Parts: sequence; C-alpha cells; structure tokens
Amino acid sequence: MIPYGRQDICPEDEQAVLEVLRSPFLTQGPVVGTFESALAERCGAAHAVAVNSATSALHVAYRALGLGAGDLLLTSPNTFVATANAALLCGAEVDFVDMDPASLGIGIPALRDKLEQLAVQGRKPKIVVPVHFAGHPTGLAALQELSEQYGFRIVEDASHAVGASYRGQPVGGCHHSDITVFSFHPVKILTTGEGGMALTNDPELARRMDSLRTHGVTRDRDRFERPDDGPWYYEQQDLGYNYRMTDLQAALGLSQLARLDGFLERRRAIAARYDELLAGLPLVLPSRDNESVSSWHLYVVQLAEELKDERRRIFEALREQGVGVQVHYIPVHLQPYYGALGFSHGDFPAAERYYGRCFSLPIFYALTDDEQVQVCQILKSLLAS
Ligand SMILES: *Cc1c(COP(=O)(O)O)cnc(C)c1O
Repeated sequence: MIPYGRQDICPEDEQAVLEVLRSPFLTQGPVVGTFESALAERCGAAHAVAVNSATSALHVAYRALGLGAGDLLLTSPNTFVATANAALLCGAEVDFVDMDPASLGIGIPALRDKLEQLAVQGRKPKIVVPVHFAGHPTGLAALQELSEQYGFRIVEDASHAVGASYRGQPVGGCHHSDITVFSFHPVKILTTGEGGMALTNDPELARRMDSLRTHGVTRDRDRFERPDDGPWYYEQQDLGYNYRMTDLQAALGLSQLARLDGFLERRRAIAARYDELLAGLPLVLPSRDNESVSSWHLYVVQLAEELKDERRRIFEALREQGVGVQVHYIPVHLQPYYGALGFSHGDFPAAERYYGRCFSLPIFYALTDDEQVQVCQILKSLLAS
C-alpha cells in the first residue's frame, strides 16, 4: 500500500537520537532548547515552547491566553478534532465558522457574519483559530483586522504548515497572530515521533506555556511568591500538566529540521506533477493563491458534481488497488461527541459538501515518480468506469 503520508528517517536522524540516548539527558534537557531556538529562528519568532504533541501545544496556548469556563473559541469544522477539543479541555465553549470552499480554511465572510450575530447578543469569542489546511495559510490579514475590530486573540493551528509562508513571511513568525502551533506527528512535514511546538513573540505568553507544560511549577528564584527554603526549593503557582518533549524527540526534530528545505521542495514538485497529471479529469484540484506558499502536507482532490455519490466506491477501489487514500476531515461538528453538545447535520453546509467528495492522495518525501504515475492511472481508470 502506498500511504497518503509517511515520515522519512535517514542515518543522520538515527545517529542524532542515538547520541542523546547515550547522554545524561533523556527527557527535556539541552537539546529541547536547541530545537526550540532553531525553529524559532527559522520562523522569525522570538520564543518557542516544545511539547509532546500539537494537541498539548494548543491546550497550553489556549490556557496561556486565559481561555476558560464561560469563554468561546471559534474554529473551522474542517480540521482534526484536537483543534476544538483543546478548548473543551479548558472548560470553554466551542463553535465553528463554515469553511471557505476554495482555500478549505476558515471562511472570512462567514466569520464576519458570526461576529456580528454574537455582538448583537453582547458576546464575542476569546480566541479564533484558523487552520492552515493542507499547509496552505489563508485569510490571516483579514482575520487580524477583525481581531482588532472585535477584540479577540488568534492562535494559528499550523500543524500542517511547517515551512509554509504567507505574504513572504514564514508561518510561525506570528505576524498576524498571538501564538502559532506546529505538529511533529509522523505524517506531518517533519517529525519527532510525537511532538508539537507553540511559537510566540510575547515573552509573557511564552513563560506561561513553559510553566504549564511542567505542572505549573517554576524554579525561577526571581518569580517566587514566598521565601525559598533552600537550593531544592520550587513553587507550583498554576495548575499545569506533564507535556514535556524529550531530548530524544528534540534530537530527531533538530536533525529533521536540517532537511526541511529538501522535504518542502519534494512536496512542491509532487503537487505540481499531480496538477499536470490530473488536469482535465472530473476532479476539483487544490486551489492556489499568490499570497501564500503551501508546505503541501496534503494533496486533496474533490470529485466533480456528477460524481458526488461515487466517493465511497472510488475510495474503496483505490485502497483495494494499493493506493492508501484518506479523508481529511470528517467535519468536527458531525462527530457524536459534538452532536451531544448540540451540533447537527446542516450546520456548516460548505464543510459537509466538501466532506462528501474529498480524499487525499499520497504525498510524502520518498514517493517516487513511478508510484505517482501509478496512483494517477488507477484514479483515472476509476473515474472513467
Ligand atoms: C495533526 C493535527 C493536530 C494534532 O497534532 P498532534 O501532534 O497529533 O497532537 C491538530 N490540528 C491539526 C489540524 C492536525 O492536523
């Protein structure tokens, strides 16, 4: 089976992990700091906090911005459940804003409508979370304008978008947001096994996220609230978690980061080749715009209108013939858990319409040209039958 995504681990990656395994530090140690600095520098962010997953990064990001009971967070229904779940874990309320059918990210006109409706009720969201779906950042400038007008904070869920850029600036620099979150799950652009990072330019947000990843405990003498009892003394000042990244993971991440440009180049080439090989078929191919450069985490196609009832047949036949397609995403509001919170079919029609006809084709560093041609031939014959 050719999977839709797969990590690429080279001998240097293995060596980097082995070196840490033989060092005194296994859990969070000096290599975590080196990985944080390297990625922050690459993205042009002042601070970075590495944690054990993007889900954890979203959780500490929302908490650092003060999200809690009685607060509202808005995001796109076309995302992985973690984007919304992390807000529920804070005790907050989640609502969705229908997606933009072209960029597949959060719809800006729909968000504007939602903000107006909320304002009539005397409400506003505390945080809005755009998701850079498939690696494609969109709408950030408009979102930032709305945040100034309505007074909410922005967290970018850039789990797909390590290495992407928006208006000439790398995603992660937080030029239009308070915090940006990356994922290092093995199917994403670069991996640490499991892992995530939250980047920000605000030192106070960075300090809070740093504290939350380790139980809300501080060892910084300047911040102690009480006189210290001795050299062993530390203080828990907040209720946090154990969300630490290990040095083993950071070593892998650092080694993978050195290969990022090669990963991105290969993904761009694969996407361009799909555009050519699939042109003229009854498919909607990924949209592009001249504002952003995608990191091409996913290459998603949608069946044309006349094939809209054929997704299951085509998906199953692709899998039977060795093409490991996947669907990104089942709209979050259609999950049973969210149904119990009051959401239902018909709430976000653009996301539901997209969901009914989308699937993701294989795209990853080691995918060969021959494999790609094979994927396209199989797909082409299925569309014709
Ligand atoms: C993968 C993903 C996450 C969660 O990442 P983990 O590192 O697995 O916790 C969150 N949001 C989006 C959009 C993702 O794709």
